Amino acid sequence: MVDAYCVKCNATKKIKRPNPVKLKNGRSAVAGICPTCGTKLYRMGSSTI
Ligand SMILES: [Zn+2]
Repeated sequence: MVDAYCVKCNATKKIKRPNPVKLKNGRSAVAGICPTCGTKLYRMGSSTI
């Protein structure tokens, strides 16, 4: 499980369906959606999910 901050919920949420992504600057991150509101969430610098 990966936590990320959701700006809509104004709280830290567990990312739903997390998947690793590569950012433009070459760093890795984890992308997914908020389980509460469905907003896209990103967690930077997470190499493990
Ligand atoms: Zn949310």
